[in-house]
Amino acid sequence: MRIDILPLCDQHYRTMEFSIAPHNFNYSIEYFRCTDKFCHRCFSESLGYVTPIKDAPPLVSANQRRCEKHGRPMFISSVDRQRNVVRFACPEEGCREEA
Ligand SMILES: [Zn+2]
Ligand SMILES: [Zn+2]
Repeated sequence: MRIDILPLCDQHYRTMEFSIAPHNFNYSIEYFRCTDKFCHRCFSESLGYVTPIKDAPPLVSANQRRCEKHGRPMFISSVDRQRNVVRFACPEEGCREEA
């Protein structure tokens, strides 16, 4: 898991922080978590953006973007609020694919 990437929350574009799951986050140990304390959005390298629900399988949104080269879930790397442009990047090391 790379920890040098800086994903933004896909709900309101806040920065996310690297986090290690407590027990019972049953599908990913390491992930990024939105820094808004009322937002439970997470980004997991294997799943993409998810909102964990205790004791339930993860629900990945249908419009989760994937890298065309690697098939990996992409994260939001930057947002241009003035032009309303959201940029996605691939978590694969060295991949320059953007969407
Ligand atoms: Zn959030
Ligand atoms: Zn890629």
